[in-house]
Amino acid sequence: MMTEPRVTFPHGTILGYPRIGRRRELKRAVEAYWTGTTDAETLEETAAGLRRATRERLAELGLGRDDSSIPESFSFYDQVHDAAAAVGVLPERFAALRGADGAIGLDAYFTAARGAGEAAPLEMTKWFDTNYHYLVPEIGPETVFALSSDRFARQVAEAMADGFTVRPVIVGPVTLLALAKGTDAAPAGFDPLDRLDDLLPVYAELLASLRTAGAEWVQLDEPALVSESLPEGPGALADAAARAYAVLGGRVDRPAILVAAGYAQLSDEAWAALAAAPVEAIAVDLTRGAVPAPVEGLAAKTLVGGAVDGRNVWRGDLEAAWAKLEALRALGAGAVTAGTSTSLQHVPHDVEDETTLDPRLAAWLAFADQKVAQVATLARGLVEGRPAIADALAEASAALADRRSAPGVRDGAVRERASVLGAEDFARGDYDDRVAAQEIELALPVLPTTTIGSFPQTGDIRRARARHGRGELSADEYESFLRAEIAQVVTLQEDIGLDVLVHGEAERNDMVQYFAENLEGFAVTENGWVQSYGSRATRPSILWGDVARPEAITVAWSAFAQSLTDKPMKGMLTGPVTILAWSFVRDDQPLGETANQVALALRDEIADLEGAGIRVIQVDEPALRELLPLKRAAQPAYLEWSVGSFRLATAGAAPATQVHTHLCYSEFDVVIDAIAALDADVTSIEAARSRGEVIGDIATSGFAAGIGPGVYDIHSPRVPSVDEITELLDRTVAELPLRRVWVNPDCGLKTRGYDETVASLKNLVAATQAVRASV
Ligand code: GLN
Ligand code: ZN
Repeated sequence: MMTEPRVTFPHGTILGYPRIGRRRELKRAVEAYWTGTTDAETLEETAAGLRRATRERLAELGLGRDDSSIPESFSFYDQVHDAAAAVGVLPERFAALRGADGAIGLDAYFTAARGAGEAAPLEMTKWFDTNYHYLVPEIGPETVFALSSDRFARQVAEAMADGFTVRPVIVGPVTLLALAKGTDAAPAGFDPLDRLDDLLPVYAELLASLRTAGAEWVQLDEPALVSESLPEGPGALADAAARAYAVLGGRVDRPAILVAAGYAQLSDEAWAALAAAPVEAIAVDLTRGAVPAPVEGLAAKTLVGGAVDGRNVWRGDLEAAWAKLEALRALGAGAVTAGTSTSLQHVPHDVEDETTLDPRLAAWLAFADQKVAQVATLARGLVEGRPAIADALAEASAALADRRSAPGVRDGAVRERASVLGAEDFARGDYDDRVAAQEIELALPVLPTTTIGSFPQTGDIRRARARHGRGELSADEYESFLRAEIAQVVTLQEDIGLDVLVHGEAERNDMVQYFAENLEGFAVTENGWVQSYGSRATRPSILWGDVARPEAITVAWSAFAQSLTDKPMKGMLTGPVTILAWSFVRDDQPLGETANQVALALRDEIADLEGAGIRVIQVDEPALRELLPLKRAAQPAYLEWSVGSFRLATAGAAPATQVHTHLCYSEFDVVIDAIAALDADVTSIEAARSRGEVIGDIATSGFAAGIGPGVYDIHSPRVPSVDEITELLDRTVAELPLRRVWVNPDCGLKTRGYDETVASLKNLVAATQAVRASV
């Protein structure tokens, strides 16, 4: 029997919870299913167990079992793909995998995510300004929308059977379409958002099915409404939201609707549109956005104030969070609820799972479970009044004060050095002079060949590192192992005939964590996993204090590698922006200040590399685009400090030292000016998956320095043929000045196997030789 939807909303909630499991149980279960070691039934059981554990844990932490405060935000792979599958969006090339009634089951879902044979997987791209990647839905004029998966409703029913009334979390229709791309069949200029009116009836049906299953509330995530970078623009997106929620809200057979818009401030247009729409609640981000302006239509609505930061790991200022909720209350909405700014999918599960963190640092942190407890505290304050939570607020403030005064948070020498920087510290000499000096120093052929840095991280390498970590392999033994590995990689590159060699990065677990472990000011976690995409998770380091380099980090490995060859050996560093982007960064000073501290440490490393005879140094900045703020007004300041920190890191290099940088997923056209402003001598970028589209962008942009558009996609084991690479290179040299072009793969090779790597690189060299002979 159906009960009437309650229009009251709980006083505290979170917008979503990590779904990979405290020990990455979901990763293991899903991957076992992919390799065929378990069946679908076992996988579903594991997933149900994880959902049950999450519900129980959230109730234990203070959310209500039956008041819809517990979100059901589980996903087997990605929340965008979940919403797409629910409404029947699956590329034609996977159509054969649908069930008899058109249903999109687990196999169609996973195969679209991962590809099969000639059928390329869905494209993957970053979710707003985070390091989470979603699968880009493909929608065209021909796409048929139809309810195609009952997974969301089944999850509601499963929770009901356990005595929980959960709130299903689903990407909303506007965001789903705004993030989609046109199918190959779509005409030029087609915008998936044009299909909104066709999609809405299916969303309405989806909501009705949730209601039937017992849901009293549903959360529709609409972060597209905060973005200023989507092609439609804020005005058109707000109009779409007004239309969408008039239709969905106008139905009676539905749960109450919470529209959630985290990641930044809602655009003014979208805020007004949602306030006027027949929905029951709106969630706003109060950490990356301000308390919104008063607007008509709030009297009957609940506002969920995202006062607890869903993006960082700091315990933060609870007093300030409380003040924001008070300010939100002043808008005169029907009710105010304490919430997180975004889903907690961007933070690890639980600080309590860390046994090796300094307890003082641990007391400053809040992972997902601690944030849930903070929300519960704030919710209690909303119900019982501030005095009821005064102790908790004071405790949080005391932790904050302790953090401010703790040793290492501010290091006099680091601050002194940063305070005296002048313009000359950010500038190298004239580019043409550098080119001339480097030509003499390096004597490279036209179309020089190189790789991006890493060679395959084999099982042997990972096992040796793990054994070293457990103390089963002594420091000396581990070092000899790595030296042997480096020697092998160097010989291999000489045999293949590459021009600028790399040492292969076998000593690195991860391009950021490796540096974090070797710099002061960082801590690393044991279990602080965060989903990056699908079954992949990373363990971001925590940048808590002033950054300094106690001793050289990479120099011994690079120098050893150089001693084995007469070819130039490329030193390999990760740039300041990427180190910040892929860590949890301190929130008590501007990012630019932190970036400059990292930059100065790298600057010293570059000087030491030069001292050890390294003449080519690559500073990777794949995250430059990712951190670009969602709001246009904030972008110039970001580009100023991010580009500045790269320049600070590299400007000490001698003119004859060739500085490279590498960017992947970098939508070249968006940040072209910033890339040029990095002032690197050579920039390698991803280009193969767009079949060289980016070459045209580079040619028209006037970008003048060395450039290596990747000639093959390293995300796939496919070996590109000599002809294919030759064709791409021919097009490249037809559009770009010959002397500026480099030949390299799209990205590092660490996820590849040796067989395909060797075959691909041989073809890369053969194609280069063919093109050299023809120009
Ligand atoms: N040097 C790194 C590597 O080769 C670069 C990785 C990246 O750009 N993501 O693995
Ligand atoms: Zn890359």
